[in-house]
Amino acid sequence: MDIIAEIGKSKLYTFHSHTQFCDGHAPMETMARAAVSEGFTHYGFSPHSPVPIASPCNMKAEDTDAYLAEVERIKGLFGDRCRFYAGMEIDYLGPEWGPAHPYFREQPLDFRIGSVHFIPTQDGVPTDIDGHFERFSERVQADFHGDIDYVVDTFFGQSLAMVEAGGFDIIGHLDKVGLNASLYAPGIEGSSFYQSRLNRLLDAVAEAGVIVELNTKAFEEHGRMFPAAASLRKLMERGTKVIVNSDAHRPERVNASRLQGLAMVEKIKGSLGR
Ligand SMILES: [Zn+2]
Ligand SMILES: [Zn+2]
Repeated sequence: MDIIAEIGKSKLYTFHSHTQFCDGHAPMETMARAAVSEGFTHYGFSPHSPVPIASPCNMKAEDTDAYLAEVERIKGLFGDRCRFYAGMEIDYLGPEWGPAHPYFREQPLDFRIGSVHFIPTQDGVPTDIDGHFERFSERVQADFHGDIDYVVDTFFGQSLAMVEAGGFDIIGHLDKVGLNASLYAPGIEGSSFYQSRLNRLLDAVAEAGVIVELNTKAFEEHGRMFPAAASLRKLMERGTKVIVNSDAHRPERVNASRLQGLAMVEKIKGSLGR
């Protein structure tokens, strides 16, 4: 599916949202109702994909058919007011599991997001680094031997490998590690160590031609979006397509901070003379 063509000129959309099928806090119908009452024209569901490891945040493989059936039911309920899409936010765990895996390619999905939430420890154990800072900090200490450089290096290494393997339309929150890493080691994002890894990923993303989401989920709490403005600008200079996704886990968040996100995109467009 060509997401950019689907959206057209609409500014009321999201292609990243969660529900009861993963770690969302509301049923799909409640999220859909919220999207309709916000006046959304397009709404993509994107449960955290099944993963071959224990994870309470991810959808169970055996729920996939029920999920797809529920998208169809939602279309029947609200399809005259908003277009709904069956997507998935697919976890990249390594060469053995990610968006390029045949398991996901064979799913009848309208769109796929590729995201890195788990990275392997030095001992190869997939470990969630996507949570709140307290949890992140504990894990860096307990699971990664306090080595924040290893965490950053591995996050970007896994992201790069995911982009090179392909199989998805949108890259999810591409520099999200920067938020927790900066709280753990203030200033790390400005280091050449960090920037060289980030830039390598931006090059690969631009080269691959995938859509970048400007993820607004953390803006209210942390005052930043993913990717940060400077990275977004670098991508847009190279013609990368951008959409603004709320990554809502609750109905009141379906449009949260999207206006600010759209304004950021417009500002960069303006400065690029587009
Ligand atoms: Zn995510
Ligand atoms: Zn998400």
